[in-house]
Amino acid sequence: MDISLIKQLAVIAGEENISTNQADIDLHASDESHHPPSPAEVVVWGRSGQQIAEVLKFANAHRIPVTPWGVGTGLEGNSIPVYGGILLSLEKMTRIIEIHADDFQVTVEPGIGHKDLNAQLARYGLFFPPDPGANATIGGMLANNAAGIRTVKYGASKDNVLQMEVALADGRLIRVGSRSIKQASGYDLLHLFVGSEGTLGIITQATLKLVPVPSLMSAVVASFATVEDAVEAVVAVRGSGLDPAALEFIDAEHCRLLHEAEGVDLLPYPTLFMEFHAIHESTLTQGISMVKELCEDLGAIRIQGTTDHSERLKLWRARHHSLEILKRAMPGYKFFVMDVAVPISQYPALINYVEELRAQFNVPVTMIGHAGDGNVHVEFPYQNQAEFERALECDRLIVKRAIELGGTATGEHGVGIGKAEFMQQEHGAALDVMRAIKQTLDPNGILNPGKIFPEAIKPGT
Ligand SMILES: Cc1cc2nc3c(=O)[nH]c(=O)nc-3n(C[C@H](O)[C@H](O)[C@H](O)COP(=O)(O)OP(=O)(O)OC[C@H]3O[C@@H](n4cnc5c(N)ncnc54)[C@H](O)[C@@H]3O)c2cc1C
Repeated sequence: MDISLIKQLAVIAGEENISTNQADIDLHASDESHHPPSPAEVVVWGRSGQQIAEVLKFANAHRIPVTPWGVGTGLEGNSIPVYGGILLSLEKMTRIIEIHADDFQVTVEPGIGHKDLNAQLARYGLFFPPDPGANATIGGMLANNAAGIRTVKYGASKDNVLQMEVALADGRLIRVGSRSIKQASGYDLLHLFVGSEGTLGIITQATLKLVPVPSLMSAVVASFATVEDAVEAVVAVRGSGLDPAALEFIDAEHCRLLHEAEGVDLLPYPTLFMEFHAIHESTLTQGISMVKELCEDLGAIRIQGTTDHSERLKLWRARHHSLEILKRAMPGYKFFVMDVAVPISQYPALINYVEELRAQFNVPVTMIGHAGDGNVHVEFPYQNQAEFERALECDRLIVKRAIELGGTATGEHGVGIGKAEFMQQEHGAALDVMRAIKQTLDPNGILNPGKIFPEAIKPGT
């Protein structure tokens, strides 16, 4: 982008909303993934739907790439501006526009963090349930269709949004969806934009579904002698009708580290963390005893249940920080985290396959997963290029197997750069339909180019 384009952009976006400072460029050149940084030429801070629409109209006329940015916690290079151009940051659009408490809904700007939103909703006794560990923005979560530990009960981001305002590549600002819970009017454009990773439009406002904060919660931790036993218990708990609000698998190594680093009372064995919500004490205690019985029958070596608030929080805090704890325990290593999901009946086959690869490749991988959704994250440590390549080979094999098992290349982190090579295998002819949609909404390929599609789509080609 030459200086005259940047000057015109400053007029459109507002002088105070753009920067070419190296520090700002560097700060927005990489996300939390292993993908290499790539700098934009200018950072623009979005301030309103209208301002963003005008920036897009200008960028489209000049074929300038625009990569949206939430807070950069993505794990697949989703928000890295691989073709330079404009990095459009939503991080300053953090307002709650309206709380519709009687409808259990809230309308927000896209840059608000989900944790910050939930902190403000607490006084209404409501919360937005999708919970990726990081304080991701609502826009970034909707764009990636993020999920998390409570998805097993409350669904992913796509299940908790009703309406959005979206700025299109040509400068139109449209509203998709409705505040009605039931919607049967026309094509479901709302869910076309959810999970599109900023390649079809920029979310400038969203109305989210909320749920009442559960009055009673319990946590159950069950350790098993083998991974097979733990994973069989996942399938059994899901099939039991117990309706867990979280059902997480943590491998033996993570349990050892959580015990040593955080003092969490865990045995170094494959373990399930479960959470249950209820409105009556008796339902909760009955649920705990049923799940204990079930895990005992499946050979659990220790089962602990608690309804104590602080113990439960300690457990989840430790679960959320497990990657950081792993990183601290292995100084000098870099990590990448992969994400696949399969139907729950195939979860044991998937986990066994990862175990086989661990032995075959002799890679010290660790696993942690939203097991209740058939979702697993495999963490690969590496110190040099050879180890990185070996990890990548392992990663590819796991993704291919997940797809063969009827699953998907990504349960929640999105495609970004890292999963683009698997899109043909997973989607076949449907990938051409995705290309046609992209061509219709963004014919010049300016929106987040280089993502989702296996061929790098350069702007203007
Ligand atoms: C420690 C850790 C744990 C994590 N755990 C989970 C987990 O449990 N579940 C999970 O799903 N993810 C998890 N993630 C990944 C990450 O938090 C999610 O992918 C999240 O959705 C990214 O949000 P963000 O605000 O950081 O967006 P970014 O990473 O900045 O952007 C993500 C994508 O959204 C696009 N985008 C951002 N804002 C908009 C917008 N307003 N309109 C259109 N496109 C936009 C970007 O271009 C990019 O394609 C984890 C990450 C870390 C670091």
